[in-house]
Amino acid sequence: MTVTTIKGATLVSAGGEHRRDVAIAEGRVAAVGDLEPTGTVVDASGLLVLPGMVDTHVHLMDPGETEREDFVAGTRAAAARGVTTIVEHTHSHPIRSNADLSEKRDHLKGRANVDYGLAAHVWPDRIHEIEALADTGVAFFKIFTCTTHGVPGLDTAEMSEALTAVAGARSRCLVHNEDESLTLDAERRLRDAGRLDPGLLTEWRSREAELTAVAATAVIVLGTGAAATFAHVSSPAVLDVIDDFRRLGADIASEACPQYFALDEAEVMESGALRKFTPPARIRNDDERSAMWAAVRAGRFSHFSTDHAPSTLAQKRADFWEAPFGLPGLDTTLPFLIDAALGGRISMSDVVRLYATAPALRYGLAKGVIEVGADADLVLVDPEGSWTVANQDIISKAGWSPYAGRTFLGRVVATYLRGEEIARDGRCHDLRTGRFIRPVV
Ligand SMILES: [Zn+2]
Repeated sequence: MTVTTIKGATLVSAGGEHRRDVAIAEGRVAAVGDLEPTGTVVDASGLLVLPGMVDTHVHLMDPGETEREDFVAGTRAAAARGVTTIVEHTHSHPIRSNADLSEKRDHLKGRANVDYGLAAHVWPDRIHEIEALADTGVAFFKIFTCTTHGVPGLDTAEMSEALTAVAGARSRCLVHNEDESLTLDAERRLRDAGRLDPGLLTEWRSREAELTAVAATAVIVLGTGAAATFAHVSSPAVLDVIDDFRRLGADIASEACPQYFALDEAEVMESGALRKFTPPARIRNDDERSAMWAAVRAGRFSHFSTDHAPSTLAQKRADFWEAPFGLPGLDTTLPFLIDAALGGRISMSDVVRLYATAPALRYGLAKGVIEVGADADLVLVDPEGSWTVANQDIISKAGWSPYAGRTFLGRVVATYLRGEEIARDGRCHDLRTGRFIRPVV
């Protein structure tokens, strides 16, 4: 039996921080406490030990647009920066039936450095597939209200039908909320006016379009009783609408992404498509940034995800209309959150809760905690270290980061997947030991 003892670290859980050793046997946590060192001993004095992070909104384009990203590179980036579980879905090669799911699972054998769940897409004419897909163990259903990345939007009646099916199957969904008619109308006007400048983004993907769709979807969530996560909530105004419906009993989780905290609305003017994602960044000043963090501290966001959707610099340099939406994020999301904790915005326990325990719980995944019997997915973090992000450090095929040049306080030292070290000092060992996982509840 392989036994490892991680000795001398401060264990961070969603509930607090305590000096604890962790013993690992056969890939699972065997004991937590003040332990006699047995087996291989890892000296973790001065370090923090966190559960491996659980990122439930990730696009690795594999199979699909593998020139943008693939499972090998994307999960290397995840492992190197402390993410041990992802839930993945690819818009250009969606899972819409059980045949698609088994084809994708076959394709991914030997291609993952971290454990992974898979999400399905709901197409308006394939709503009847939801029940069978839920039985086979997809982690959730992705639904768009607006046609984006080639995925057709569901109108309100179709949303009602889909969420009724999701609720009936006791599954979950992740909804991208932007109103189809408002975004289409704005696009028509902007194209007619010959607009090509990056400033068109905030007019095209407006605050009103997001709020309108959020309100309509929230009505349907309340009526159907479905469990819905609202993807990439961009501002406190959106939270206000969601919180009203939550008070009425709607089961809505609000997903936060770093780009709505770290990037400003005006940056798109200078950086063009390197800041093209949707909904776009909304922050206009430091007060608005503080308001986002206050919302996190008040528990109004359920969890963090990256919405990792990379493209290369060459792809982002295309015409602004044609350049793909999305940012790389797996390389930077845990460093960003650790920096927020060490900088006093949130606590280290908040990091664990928001990026490990809560998302795992939301999607019924047996991950995100360090407890006896749990998978020994662990991250060691040096709170005295730091990382100045440089494009050449980015492991994702994107090869760049919107945070290049920023210094994040704290440093991810090592990552363990089911007891085995899969990354150290920013390098993934590329063991490809990641496994498919499904919701257990
Ligand atoms: Zn996404």
